Amino acid sequence: MPTHGPRLSCTMEVRRPDGRQAGAWWRGSRFCDIHSIMRAVVIDEYGGPDEVSVQDLPDPRPGPGEVVVRVAAAALNRLDIWTLSGSLGFPLEFPHILGADAAGEIDVLGEGVKALRRGAKVMVNPGLSCGECELCRAGEQSECPNFKLLGEHVPGTFAEKIKVPVQNVWPFPSHLPWAEAASLGITFTTAYRMLYSQGRLRPGEWALITGIGGGLALSLLQLARPVAGRIFVTSSSPDKLARAGELGADEGIDYTAEDVGKAVRRITGKRGVDAVFDSAGGPSLEANLRCLRPGGRVVIAGVTGGPQAEIDLRRIFWSQLSVIGATMGSHRDVSDMLRAVAGGRLRPMIDRTFPFERASEAFSYLESGERFGKVVLEFGSGG
Ligand SMILES: [Zn+2]
Repeated sequence: MPTHGPRLSCTMEVRRPDGRQAGAWWRGSRFCDIHSIMRAVVIDEYGGPDEVSVQDLPDPRPGPGEVVVRVAAAALNRLDIWTLSGSLGFPLEFPHILGADAAGEIDVLGEGVKALRRGAKVMVNPGLSCGECELCRAGEQSECPNFKLLGEHVPGTFAEKIKVPVQNVWPFPSHLPWAEAASLGITFTTAYRMLYSQGRLRPGEWALITGIGGGLALSLLQLARPVAGRIFVTSSSPDKLARAGELGADEGIDYTAEDVGKAVRRITGKRGVDAVFDSAGGPSLEANLRCLRPGGRVVIAGVTGGPQAEIDLRRIFWSQLSVIGATMGSHRDVSDMLRAVAGGRLRPMIDRTFPFERASEAFSYLESGERFGKVVLEFGSGG
């Protein structure tokens, strides 16, 4: 039997697939009084896809204002790879459940939850905010000084059941199957905030989206298409550029064949674009600034290429450029994003799905970078 701490009232024994007892979960009090077991995708230490395993863990119990969601599908994000590798630098309690995105059915309502019924189909917004600071009260939850993400700072969504605050679950447009609904949380919310709340994209403006093929860039393309006048995309893959063209991109630039700044100026008759939406970060910032018309802006929501940039500040002030950051979104952003998805009948691009038992393989596939769209784990227990 596991070693019981003084606060532990549970008597059930949990064994992992390798036969070892899941003792770490019993030493604290957060999963006490447990009656049933679920399976979850976890890590016991930082590393690569080989560290990812499926373990039996106690069912989560909702606290006041929380709900338990029976997960049907959960999308992978690059964020999960950084969590897995330990590069985010947050201390995690092991075993740690990975995952930020999910969709499923409401299974248990915590005390005081009145707005949802059991069985309601919801997607999860992974952003957790304090709800009390001046920025939360102003409706800017993703600017909260205590902003956290499911799976990054706290147990995540790659589990048969998860518990989340009720304000983090949203009914989603009915035309979406589970895998697509599960892909809205990180990428579509972030893309909406980049384009509209932070980037203030206006009808007819010309936009450049870097690195087409990943989930965020495709979300940007889909959400910008109804509004932007002309959309430029970049990639190192002619195949991805061609597929982006089928989704509505007007111009594709192979950044391995031509300097992006020069290409944009050539195609636009030296005008440049109104806004660049980027998640590559440091190495591409200088080129992104050269793509802009005077008064244009670059909106950055990631540093997949690296965090450091060296830029000529004369370009910023002389051309009156703006460099703008964006992270996740507010409750209003999630609501407006869902409305845009419903109104445009948008469907997140799914590259491939895996049964959650093969999560390690899904992580290896995500790392390969060959995908076009989201990689999604299917749990098969919801709906
Ligand atoms: Zn706050």
